[in-house]
Amino acid sequence: MVRAEGVRKHFGRLEVLKGIDLTVERGQVCCLLGPSGSGKSTFLRCINHLEKVDGGRLTVDGELVGYRQQGNKLHELREREVADRRRDIGMVFQRFNLFPHMTAVENVMEAPVKVAGVSRTDAREHAHALLDQVGLGDRGHHYPAELSGGQQQRVAIARALAMKPKLMLFDEPTSALDPELVGDVLDVMRQLAADGMTMVVVTHEIGFAREVGDTAVFMDEGVVVESGDPRQVLVEPEQERTRAFLSKVL
Ligand code: ATP
Ligand code: MG
Repeated sequence: MVRAEGVRKHFGRLEVLKGIDLTVERGQVCCLLGPSGSGKSTFLRCINHLEKVDGGRLTVDGELVGYRQQGNKLHELREREVADRRRDIGMVFQRFNLFPHMTAVENVMEAPVKVAGVSRTDAREHAHALLDQVGLGDRGHHYPAELSGGQQQRVAIARALAMKPKLMLFDEPTSALDPELVGDVLDVMRQLAADGMTMVVVTHEIGFAREVGDTAVFMDEGVVVESGDPRQVLVEPEQERTRAFLSKVL
């Protein structure tokens, strides 16, 4: 579903991604870990067309990200084409970014109605089902300010799911939450994984990565230091850098 081959990205003279190789198969969960500034968010943003890749090859579901190939020429995608591709990818950030003036249901309905042209009736019905799925069936009429951080994050997940994405990206979805609220959000993600969603998750929740991840990728300074079975990478890492990092977060 996601294939990165030698993916590079720089901001000015700062090389942030220095040739990332990584594959996420359909239905798999890939957990991305690494110290601050290692390029995790930048990599997710590249997958989701929020940043442009400078080098290497990045594909989502077989399609080149950012470019259209004609013969052996590459053309940059037009805004419209980018928007079409992004619809298939759901993203959940550390901060929930819900629309504050809309209720939970309205937040979840927004994109299907405005972007996909779904009728309000159908969108509302689907939104209620999604809120049920994330354990908030009774909170649909609440505004974000009336919900806990964990509840807001679950609304954000429901909102991302409303567009029926084939890939979900999570960027430290629980790191802004009070510890007692983390579990509910991870449970929703665990269920999503069990239902077969393809996911790339930046997280420092080692337990989650070990239990739910099909692969763990440890990044540092824009390179993949080590990757593989989370039960190996996160339990008996081969690289000293991975070991040093784990001893800090555990
Ligand atoms: P964290 O764990 O703190 O979220 P990260 O691994 O997600 O870190 P990134 O956010 O990808 O790291 O940032 C990698 C590097 O790229 C950092 O040095 C950051 O300052 C730099 N960077 C990110 N976005 C930009 C930008 N738009 N312009 C310039 N530099 C940027
Ligand atoms: Mg980040």
